[in-house]
Amino acid sequence: MGLLEGHTPTTNKRAWENLSIKHSTQSQKKSFCRLLLGAHSTCGIMDALQRMKDTVQIHIDSIQNELYSLSRDIWSHPELAGNETRAHDTLVRFFSQRGGAWTVEDHFKLPTAFRASWGPVGAKEGKPVVNVGFLCEYDALPDIGHACGHNLIAEVGAAAAVGLKAALEGQSELPVSVKITVLGTPAEEAIGGKIDLIQAGAFSDLDLVFMAHPAQQDASFLKYAFEVTVKYHGKASHASAYPWEGVNALDAAVLAYNNLSTLRQQLKPEWRLHGIIKNGGVKPNIIPAYTELEFYLRTPLLRDLVDLKAKAEACFRAAALATGCQVEIIYPSHTYYNILPNATLANLYESNGKTLGIEFSEQPDFFSGSTDFGNVSFIVPGIHPFFSIGSPALNHTDEYAEAAGAERAQLFTLRTATALAMTAVDVVCCPDLLQQTREDFSRFSWELRFLPTVQKHAYW
Ligand SMILES: [Zn+2]
Ligand SMILES: [Zn+2]
Repeated sequence: MGLLEGHTPTTNKRAWENLSIKHSTQSQKKSFCRLLLGAHSTCGIMDALQRMKDTVQIHIDSIQNELYSLSRDIWSHPELAGNETRAHDTLVRFFSQRGGAWTVEDHFKLPTAFRASWGPVGAKEGKPVVNVGFLCEYDALPDIGHACGHNLIAEVGAAAAVGLKAALEGQSELPVSVKITVLGTPAEEAIGGKIDLIQAGAFSDLDLVFMAHPAQQDASFLKYAFEVTVKYHGKASHASAYPWEGVNALDAAVLAYNNLSTLRQQLKPEWRLHGIIKNGGVKPNIIPAYTELEFYLRTPLLRDLVDLKAKAEACFRAAALATGCQVEIIYPSHTYYNILPNATLANLYESNGKTLGIEFSEQPDFFSGSTDFGNVSFIVPGIHPFFSIGSPALNHTDEYAEAAGAERAQLFTLRTATALAMTAVDVVCCPDLLQQTREDFSRFSWELRFLPTVQKHAYW
């Protein structure tokens, strides 16, 4: 059964493998690059491509101290989603003070977003322009600081962009002109700043988009998530004197929690359902008149999420029915989509990463967070790999926050940035690869069919 006929891949990674377009052999590289670099000898073509990649690596290595202090500054001053003023200023300064004519727009469309752009360069006038985007996140978490390592995401984006720029400088024979755009995208952890930026048109002129997220290992997929808040309204009464007068909203919350726990056994292995009782009443001698739960529902694909939502909502409503409470089911206005895979970019990234010593797990553990990059992947071809930072700690823990600021994470962070920039070099130097990247992107546009269904269910 094909992907379009209802088969759900276990993970996006598996779908990538089915569709993978290998670009790892020397002969393929030669033929792709012969078209583009205009060189006459085969080894000259390969040399030119390799020289550009070497330049990426040498340049990033040469400014490693500056890059570490950039991310260390962000790490030392954790700021919550939407309040990243210092991180914004630090990154704006990083690009403004560099030589080489970066155009920097601070407060770009959002108070703590920015855009830095350079180019286009690399080809004779009249050639099409390919705008390569790198994303920086820099928001922290309440109480535990940079426990998701977004300071390192900012560093990867900045390093990859300046590394690519160094490789492009002095080039004039590329098949396309290349523009580099760095977008500072705030508020990933809380409200999905990229979704606001998409709506404001910040991604509309990008042709490719790259970012990487620190995790426990090097991998390339993520689940799609929905957040839901459920409120039960009952009736307060004295819990001892007149309990029969009350309508117990805490009973509704507990029943809902238990309904979902029972449901969990019937879910597909890669689905997730987890939550808390956020408000459980006021005092033991008052029948709770109001309770509130917060749950996250996660599936790898949007169409699965429609099913999971329906099952979860039945659990919430059943609890209301059993207790006589009124129920409100509320979804946030911003919904995180799954990340659409791009086999061409993923294969190139893996092949570049391996030359730098990155060991990609054949069967990576399922990292099941969610990200507003998913929404970006629906409008621009891109990749969002994960990278180890040399620590076994898990994201969103104190230990991970510590690891994200440690010098040890730097080797892992900078080689990830180097591999991303090398991947960009491959694509802008080889029109066939650019074309394949676009074809991969359109191949998954069928997922868009599920968006109206999800949106329709999103509000009551
Ligand atoms: Zn996080
Ligand atoms: Zn994160």
